[in-house]
This record gives sequence, C-alpha cells and structure tokens, in this order.
Amino acid sequence: MTNLTALIAELDGLRIEENDKIVLQKSRDFYWYSPVLKRQLDHVTGDIVVSPRNEDELIRVLKACYRHDVPVTPRGTGTGNYGQAMPLSGGVVLSLADMNDIGEIAPGKVTCGPGVICADLDKATRAHSNQEMRMHPSTYHTATVGGFIAGGSGGVGSISWGGLRDFGNIIRLRVVTMEEDPRVLDLSGEDLHKVTHAYGTNGIITEIELPLAPAYDWVDLIAVFDSFDAAARYGNMLARQDGILTKLITVVAAPCPYDYFKRHQKYLRPGQHVVLVMVAPQSYDAFKAFSARTGAEIVFDASLEADLKGIPPVFELAWNHTTLRALRVDPAWTYLQSLYPFPNQIELAGRMDRMFPGEMISHLEFVRFDGDITCFGLPLVRFTTEERLNDIIDLHTENGCPIFNPHRYTLEEGGMKQTDEIQLAFKREADPKGLLNPGKMIAWDDPDYDFTSGKVWLFKGLQQAS
Ligand SMILES: Cc1cc2nc3c(=O)[nH]c(=O)nc-3n(C[C@H](O)[C@H](O)[C@H](O)COP(=O)(O)OP(=O)(O)OC[C@H]3O[C@@H](n4cnc5c(N)ncnc54)[C@H](O)[C@@H]3O)c2cc1C
Repeated sequence: MTNLTALIAELDGLRIEENDKIVLQKSRDFYWYSPVLKRQLDHVTGDIVVSPRNEDELIRVLKACYRHDVPVTPRGTGTGNYGQAMPLSGGVVLSLADMNDIGEIAPGKVTCGPGVICADLDKATRAHSNQEMRMHPSTYHTATVGGFIAGGSGGVGSISWGGLRDFGNIIRLRVVTMEEDPRVLDLSGEDLHKVTHAYGTNGIITEIELPLAPAYDWVDLIAVFDSFDAAARYGNMLARQDGILTKLITVVAAPCPYDYFKRHQKYLRPGQHVVLVMVAPQSYDAFKAFSARTGAEIVFDASLEADLKGIPPVFELAWNHTTLRALRVDPAWTYLQSLYPFPNQIELAGRMDRMFPGEMISHLEFVRFDGDITCFGLPLVRFTTEERLNDIIDLHTENGCPIFNPHRYTLEEGGMKQTDEIQLAFKREADPKGLLNPGKMIAWDDPDYDFTSGKVWLFKGLQQAS
C-alpha cells in the first residue's frame, strides 16, 4: 500500500507497530462473545498500530492519515464486545493507551487523558481526596476511561447514577477532528451527545472531565434464593430502598452461579439463584436488617471473610463478566442485552425467564433510568443458529423488551435502530472523508437504509478475508 509507506515515513519518530501478529492482536476486541460477529469479523486487521503520547502527536497522525486517505480506528484496550474497536477497512489502529495523564483532581471532578485505566483513575482520586468514578464498567481493571465513554454505556454505579449518556455524568470532552487541519474542540452540555457512545466515528477524545462521587469501602455480598422470581423481587425491593446506598444489584439465575462462578462455588449450592450486591459500609447494618426482614439468605459477606485471596470482587461476576464466566466453562453460550421497562420490569423479566427453558439463563442489572428503578438484562443464550437467535430477539421485542443487539457491529443496529442525527451531523463536520472507524455508522455509509427492513446491514468496505 503506497500511501501507507508514505504515511509511515511521515510519522517518523512516533511509536509505530508494523509486526503483523501484534497488529492483528491490537485489531481485536471481545467481538468473539458473539458467534455472529466472530464469523463476520474474524479476519479483520489493521495495517499498523500508532500510539501517540500526547495531543500534538495525535494531531500529526490524523493530519497525515487525512492527507493519505488512510482509515483510522481508535482503540483504548479493546474490551468492547460489539466489534467497536475493529478496523473494518484496515489502515491505522490508533491506540490511545499512552495518553494516560491524570490532571487536576478537585472536589467532585477530575480531568484525565483517554488512555487512563478506570481503576488507576480511582486509585489517584481516592488517594487525593477519597473520591471515585460515579460508575465504571465491570472491566474496571482493564478498560480505559476514553473507551468507556466512546464505546460503553454504564455499569457498576448505574444503580445510583443512571447511564453514562445521562446529563451530568460527563462534564467535558476535548475532541480532535479528522480534517485537513484538525480542530481541537471542547464539548460540554448538549454537545457531549455528539461523541459519547459514537465508537470514535466522528472525533478522537483527547481529554475527559468527569464528575466524582465520595469513595467508600464497598462491601461485597451474595444473597441466594430458590426461585428466579424471588431473587428478582428482592433485587427490585432492595434497589427501591431509598436509605440504603448500593453500587451494584445483580440477579443471576440458576444454574449459572454454581456452575460458572467457580471461585465462589464453595459458598453456593446447585440450583441457587443469586443477587450480587455492593453496599456502602454505612448502609451495611440496614442492608442486613432489610435482608432478614425479606427472608434473604446471605451466603457470602466479604467483610466477614478472613482471606479473600483468589476471590474476585462481585462486580467481576456482574454486567458482561457474567457472560465471560459462562463462556470460559461452556463456549456454547452467547448473550443478549435487553431492557425491561419500568414499571413492569419484574413481570417482564419473569415472563422472558419462563419463555426459553434450558435455552436462556436470566441475568438482570438494576439501574436508575430516567429517575425510576428498572433493570437491564444480559441473559445468557445457548447458541444454536442465527435464525433461532433472531427468533429469541423478536420474542423479546414483541413482548415489550427492547434488545440492544450485541451481534451487530454498527451503532444503529446495536442501539435504537434509528439514525442518531446529532452524531451524523457532527460526523459530516468533523470527518468529511469518512475515515474514522469506517463501517460503524450506517447513516453515514447508507443514508437511505431502511431500519425497519429486518435485514442485516453489511458494510461494503469490510475487508474480505484473504
Ligand atoms: C467482561 C466484560 C465486561 C464488560 N462490562 C461492561 C460494563 O459493565 N459496562 C459497559 O458499558 N461496558 C462493558 N463492557 C464493554 C467494555 O469493556 C467497556 O465499554 C469499556 O469501557 C471499553 O473500554 P476500552 O478501553 O476497552 O475501549 P475499546 O474497546 O478499545 O473501544 C471502545 C470504542 O471506543 C472507541 N474509542 C476508544 N478510545 C477512544 C477515544 N479516545 N476517542 C474516540 N473513540 C475511542 C473505539 O474505537 C471503540 O469503538 C464489558 C466488556 C467485557 C469484555
């Protein structure tokens, strides 16, 4: 590729990786969670990985790629599971991992680079003034803050704070555009929606200002139940206790806990349904009293364990870690992402739980959603065929449970199945050549696409397997 040779020469002095094997490794994320994405994307690779250390170097890269028409796919640490960080048209994989400075920490907020790992950010803000991120993905120890904002949606902490895109959960983003002369923009308020959860298709985030919450030594607990409905009801009631401060309330149906939570297996019995909880220490006594009153049996209480060596935090059994634990034992599982809308969340979750015996294992994450308590689902689904997977998706939708399809690599199909006009308008302005993370925004590549057609969209530029 001549333009690539010229590009590499022009980027002299920057960190560039050309080794095929390493480039392939850095071109992947957790797309393989989905057998559908695995089939479609397994061959995808970039041509080189470039790792700028600061904004000046980053601007040099974007400018040169613009001039040579080379696609650029940003990357944090590649823990996204929709294939978001995969370079469908090859070109440059832009690793932001080295832009990991932590700037000012002030009461209620912090400024940092996009490449900071979530756990490292909390370590610094805890040490400085006993503050922490309001929410983090369960990939806390591996994911970058920039990747979370561009590719994630919420997680541990969403029970109190809602989702990442809710007003107030990000203060400011500094973004560099992909133009002949890249611009550096500071976005805040309504403008944040231009780039949050846009998969890096319309700008590169180079600085982040996030709100912080008081940090606590959260206590991990597991309550067990004989039925999924009882576990779901308890989770819902606990989430609605206004005086008990929690950071995580997760319901996982049997047989997943005993069969797949191997490190916690000694606390569990086969057939038990669990509720995983993180509770603030000042709410611990109240939590115990509430659980006793509701008849919940607590089988694991991290504050009473003498030795927690080898026992992961409960959030590493929750959110998308539940799927990971199941996949490690039995690769035939895949999953879905659903919403059980308020106020019928418990009835809907129970109905869906009963609909697919042996084929689906329910998993609920309680969250605050537009001021109400409801739950998302990340049910495990036993994969047989794509047709059957689509049937299961349709049955959810028909029953009033929207699916955010994790078996699609485009923003629209994995989200609300409609054009995000704000993100599209910003792409027109900030990436006129369409070089940023190509193939992820249908509205850009195929403006007339009919989202109601029921067809799977395939990016024409998806590199064919050689
Ligand atoms: C086991 C497991 C558990 C998970 N749990 C959660 C969870 O609880 N909540 C949740 O929301 N997600 C979850 N995820 C998905 C993922 O881990 C998170 O969204 C994570 O925050 C992504 O961070 P990353 O650094 O790995 O980003 P990457 O995967 O590298 O990138 C994510 C997206 O952001 C883009 N991007 C990265 N950096 C930038 C930048 N600086 N500017 C512009 N675009 C950029 C990439 O192109 C890509 O589209 C989970 C995934 C796994 C595998």
